[in-house]
Amino acid sequence: MLYDVIIVGGGPCGITAATYLKRFGRNILLLKKDDGILNNSKIEIENYYGVDKTNAKYFVDISNKKLHDLDILVKEESVVNIIYDDHLIVQTLNNKYETKNVVLALGLSRKKPLIKNMEKYIGLGASYCASCDGFFYKDKKIGLIGNDEYLLHEYNILKNITNEITIFTNGKTLAVKGINSKVVTDKIEYVEGNEYINKIVTINESYDIDGLFIADSIPNADILSQKIGLLVENNEIVINELYMTNVPNIYAGGDCIKGIKQITKASYDGMVIAYNINNELNKNI
Ligand SMILES: Cc1cc2nc3c(=O)[nH]c(=O)nc-3n(C[C@H](O)[C@H](O)[C@H](O)COP(=O)(O)OP(=O)(O)OC[C@H]3O[C@@H](n4cnc5c(N)ncnc54)[C@H](O)[C@@H]3O)c2cc1C
Repeated sequence: MLYDVIIVGGGPCGITAATYLKRFGRNILLLKKDDGILNNSKIEIENYYGVDKTNAKYFVDISNKKLHDLDILVKEESVVNIIYDDHLIVQTLNNKYETKNVVLALGLSRKKPLIKNMEKYIGLGASYCASCDGFFYKDKKIGLIGNDEYLLHEYNILKNITNEITIFTNGKTLAVKGINSKVVTDKIEYVEGNEYINKIVTINESYDIDGLFIADSIPNADILSQKIGLLVENNEIVINELYMTNVPNIYAGGDCIKGIKQITKASYDGMVIAYNINNELNKNI
């Protein structure tokens, strides 16, 4: 099945884009990790056109009902990469979907808790992407940080490249089966190296490594953009006047791009993206 559009994100931007595209008669799929930042009954919305002070959870519930009423295909699956092979291929933890266009409505990039020294070694032996960088570590000694399904996804790529993998759960419990490598559950204190990373130090021990992969949470806008090769400035995905990123047919809107971080603006972005994609698809008939 080749979709016209896959929308990644189930917040105001993604749902608005999906609503318009469906009403334009497009063949679409919406993928979401969860219901987004608004799925929180402690948030009260007071500044949305035409509604009184309303609990954010209410917006989530009526938006999801709208998706259901419009018969929009929604899957609760986390996207871990998007590659190009004839068409765009959206990879989730367990599936791959083909599409002509992608809308990234991923919400705000939230910086993860830092491991001391880690950021300075990104690209110098530390990586967020096993499928991009694993290839460089054939039979080398690598560390892999994580504890859940996303760890397993990245492990399944790396285990075919080297047998010398050590898993670091950084104080968490390993929550998946299927790992046949050494597992260290100690909390990580810091990483170190010279020009390239070469050591990971936990509260109890120090481990020599040639490379380190980080898979400690589902990629947010920041990490996913790095994996796809999107231009990012100030932690926001860069788009052109059509809301298209530097990768053809991948669009982005809402909190993950520049501008005001509010529902009205995210929803507006979703609408404009839907019109733009629909116009482009019309040209190709
Ligand atoms: C505490 C708080 C209070 C707020 N109050 C207001 C207010 O009063 N009024 C107002 O207008 N705005 C308010 N906002 C801002 C508003 O919530 C955001 O601007 C809006 O939700 C942005 O919509 P979005 O669609 O861009 O992203 P989000 O709503 O954040 O949705 C992002 C979506 O992307 C999905 N996603 C992310 N990564 C992946 C992945 N790898 N794979 C699959 N899916 C993924 C998430 O699961 C989610 O569904 C508030 C925000 C906060 C945090």
